[in-house]
Parts: sequence; C-alpha cells; structure tokens
Amino acid sequence: MVNGKTNILGVIGDPIEHTFSPAMHNAGLNALGLNYIYLPFHVLPQNLNSAISGAKSLGIRGLNVTIPHKQNIIPYLDEIDGIAEMIGAVNTVKFDLELDRTIGYNTDAYGCIRAISEVMDLKDKKVCITGAGGAARAVAFQIATSGIAELTILNRNYNKADNLAIDVKKNLKKMDIDINIESRKIEDLAGVLSESEILIDTTPLGMHPHDDDKPIATADILHEDLLVNDIVYTPMETSLIKEAKKANSKVVYGYKMLLYQGIRSFEIWLDREAPVEVMEKALLDVLGI
Ligand code: NAP
Repeated sequence: MVNGKTNILGVIGDPIEHTFSPAMHNAGLNALGLNYIYLPFHVLPQNLNSAISGAKSLGIRGLNVTIPHKQNIIPYLDEIDGIAEMIGAVNTVKFDLELDRTIGYNTDAYGCIRAISEVMDLKDKKVCITGAGGAARAVAFQIATSGIAELTILNRNYNKADNLAIDVKKNLKKMDIDINIESRKIEDLAGVLSESEILIDTTPLGMHPHDDDKPIATADILHEDLLVNDIVYTPMETSLIKEAKKANSKVVYGYKMLLYQGIRSFEIWLDREAPVEVMEKALLDVLGI
C-alpha cells in the first residue's frame, strides 16, 4: 500500500518498457514488508542530467541504470565505486540523503561472478571470455580480480579483444595483481577451450528471436571439465547451453547474472540481505520460465 511514507527506487533507461527489474525488486521489497516501491522511468539521453538532479530532489533512494545511460551517467554522480570506475560503467546509483551524495556502482559483473562461484570455485582457474563489448568489459574486470590464474579474451573483431585485454592488464598492475591475460581471434576458440576450465560467452548469439543461431562453440570443442556460462537469458536453454549439456559441461544460465546484479543493488540500497529465493521466483515468472 503506497502512503505518505513510501520510499522510491527505480530503473532508468531508453527504452524501458521491457525491463524485468520491477517484478524482481517489488517482490523482494514486499517479502520483507518494506514501505518501498520500485518503478520504471523512461529517461531520454538529453534528460539524463536533469533526471539525476530531479531524483535527488524527490528523495528517490536508489536507481538501476540501463542502456544507453551506463557510461554517460558517470559525470553526473558525486562518487564512483572502484570496480565501476575501472569498468567505466554504472548500473546502480545510491542516493545518500543524509550526506547529500550520489554514489555509482556496477553490479552486473558481480552478478556473473556470483552465479559462476555457486557452481565452481574461481581460485586459480583458466577462464576465457568470448565477445569484447560492454558486458565482456564488466565481466573481464571483475573476474580478473577474483583469484583466477589466466584470462583469455576472444572476439570476432580482434582489435577490440586486444584493447580490452590491455586495459584490464593496466588496471591490474595498479592493484598489484599478476595474472596472465591474453587476447585471441575468435577462430582460435577450439584451442583455447581445450586448456580452459570456464567459458563465459558474452556475445548475443542465440538470443531470442535468433534462438537457432549457431552458437559460439559446439559440443565437439566443449568438454566435461568445463563450466559454460551463456549470459544471454532469453531463451533460458540457449543453443550454447544445449551444446554444453551434450558435452557434459557444467552450465550456468544467463538469468542468474540478471538475478544477482539485482540482489547486489537491493543490498546496496537497503543495507540488508535480499530475499534471493523470492526475487528469483519473481524473475523466472516474469521471464516466463
Ligand atoms: P555489445 O557491446 O554489442 O557486444 C557484443 C559482442 O558480441 C561484441 O564483441 C561482438 O563482436 C560480439 N558479437 C556480436 N555478434 C556476433 C556474432 N554473430 N559472432 C561473433 N561475435 C559476435 O553487447 P553487450 O552489451 O556486451 O551485450 C552482449 C549480450 O549480453 C546481449 O545479448 C545482452 O542481452 C547480454 N547481457 C546479459 C546480461 C545478464 O544480466 N545476463 C547483462 C548484460 C548483457 P564484434 O566486436 O566483432 O562486433
């Protein structure tokens, strides 16, 4: 029941009508009996600055940030968390009303790493990432600082993979983390996979309505000592996940990344543990799974 004491959370993006976040967050807020509501806000790029100052003036407690604002929001915030700064993208904003400050975080990559960690310990693992776009960038920075031994980034456009690898290396040096990071052409995937323990596919291959696209890797080059995480979440059983099952690889579904990025945002805003099972059920319901 919305009343005079209701606190507001939300998500900004352009477009915004397809967001799954309100269902997940409102289920979590209701389960804990909190007087909060989570709403979608359609914010055009030219209105981003005024949306942030307006949200501050309205006493909004927190926002998720989605495409196309994740990078452009940074200059409008007072503070950026370390990993979000390295990635250069923010998907969560906390409005600290007492200190009158806005703080930006990136929980996307946290979501991916937490989902994988549930199934396999990351320590000393050899990891490869396919794709070198926005999602790959977030995942690469986070996983490189999670205790792994080696990271190989493969992309169709090799220069993008190389630039990302250079950027990750540069930042790890500042943090005194010494792991082997390489970039390769996507054509080298079979060879890289034979030496890898974790594959994270960040390409959109197999995403609905292209469910039957040939996946980045087929069962003949996957193996049973490999964990395969496809970050595409519609459909749940992507063509890559099907191939991974044929090869007896362990699988991590893409929706788990979406779930855990939301869980982390919830915890940042509310300073308390999120009800994971309730939020997972709400997310699966809204995804039609
Ligand atoms: P992006 O910035 O456009 O990057 C896409 C990457 O995929 C690029 O490196 C691109 O290679 C590669 N790629 C695209 N089509 C390809 C093809 N046919 N063959 C080989 N490589 C191809 O996209 P993004 O923002 O990183 O998002 C990527 C996917 O992740 C989307 O499907 C998105 O829905 C999903 N995602 C999921 C979550 C989650 O919570 N589960 C979160 C974020 C994103 P080139 O550089 O050669 O073009």
